[in-house]
Amino acid sequence: MPESKITELRGEIDKLNLELLQTLSKRASVAKEIGSLQTSAGVSTYDPMREQEMLNALVATNPGPFDAGTIKSLFKAIFQASMETGKKADKPKFLTSRATKNEDTVVMVGDVAIGGKHSPVLVAGPCAIESKEQVMMTAEFVASRGVKLFRGGAYKPRTDPYSFQGLGEKGLQIGREACDKYGMKFVAEIMDARDIDLFIEYVDVLQIGARNSQNFTMLRTVGQKTTKPVLLKRGLSSKIEEWVMSAEYLLSEGNPNVILCERGIRTYEPYTRNTLDVSAVALAKLETHLPVMVDVTHSGGRRDLLVPLTKAGLAIGADGIMIEVHPNPAVALSDQKQQVDFEEFDNYLKDTGYHSKLSEKRFEVYGF
Ligand code: PEP
Ligand code: MN
Repeated sequence: MPESKITELRGEIDKLNLELLQTLSKRASVAKEIGSLQTSAGVSTYDPMREQEMLNALVATNPGPFDAGTIKSLFKAIFQASMETGKKADKPKFLTSRATKNEDTVVMVGDVAIGGKHSPVLVAGPCAIESKEQVMMTAEFVASRGVKLFRGGAYKPRTDPYSFQGLGEKGLQIGREACDKYGMKFVAEIMDARDIDLFIEYVDVLQIGARNSQNFTMLRTVGQKTTKPVLLKRGLSSKIEEWVMSAEYLLSEGNPNVILCERGIRTYEPYTRNTLDVSAVALAKLETHLPVMVDVTHSGGRRDLLVPLTKAGLAIGADGIMIEVHPNPAVALSDQKQQVDFEEFDNYLKDTGYHSKLSEKRFEVYGF
């Protein structure tokens, strides 16, 4: 074999490779430019007709030695690669994304830290604020068990318009008074963007409920008007992406203190009120840097599931748990079936492994 000839031809191949690389790179830049123009004009970057025309032209002028099929698959691979590069370059950087910020966001509610390496917190209190007496009793009791975050709805999102809708501003006043008296922070749901000033005045954490999870006007208003922490529930049938995008509304308007809360999604299963999507908790933590909580009351909708769902949530990495407690659930004006009374709450704390740690009461999760 004439070694020198082979070396010479190999040199030629190396040169051609470089030329191909230059040409391919140049082609990719032009394709990217077209893609950006199409994206800003709101047109799709994929045009199958155009692709077919280009392939036809190439096959028609193909000088060989490749056959038509090979030319088509080679160029299809080039088209595909250019499209992918364009897509990657166009992908917006979301503020909620771990790709934008890798370290965990820790949301501070007063001196309570939620997220990161902090152990999980407990949010407890009645479904609805029904009376001063009911709230004072519950607040005193849960505070005595170490709860730092007290929940109670003053504006209730009810399916039936004739059922109890909440005490409104009066309810916010009661919740505030109870939290101040017993040294807790107040979490309550905002249902209407027009109430934002009231919520800024009375509450420490603004809850955005499942039904308003995609109320974009309210998300924007809350994001613009306050940096107080927001507890954002997942919508009844929201995909994880939709839930995260709702958080994006808050962050993009200037409020970085968002806590996501998985509260179960609607499925075909009637044994539970909703289906707790534990994988969503893990995924939300992987995809975003925000703290993620689990609402065990509304997800299962059953008292007998509160302990196992809490354990599942903590095992998969939840940064907190929300549970509803009422002095007498049988006469509660909402969610009678799933709120726990004081004795049941004590059993729940014992069975889930919630105990005193460095004077702060939090969940002990080392058992998992
Ligand atoms: C609530 O927590 O009071 C509530 C109404 O929950 P959700 O929005 O998850 O149904
Ligand atoms: Mn409820």
